[in-house]
Amino acid sequence: MPETNKCLYCEITSLEVPLIKLDFKGQELFVCPQHIPLLIHEPQKLIGKLPGAERMVPYQQD
Ligand SMILES: [Zn+2]
Repeated sequence: MPETNKCLYCEITSLEVPLIKLDFKGQELFVCPQHIPLLIHEPQKLIGKLPGAERMVPYQQD
């Protein structure tokens, strides 16, 4: 049985919620709807979970 995809942040699986597929550094990653805002607004919270997250810049509204 293939491994079930999981949210990179909370590890909820695609058996429980729909996951969005990400393409990052040639890797396929998945994020749940609840944690998409972290990618946009608080990428620093992904440091340690997403290699390279320390280089991501939060969206700033002007
Ligand atoms: Zn999640």
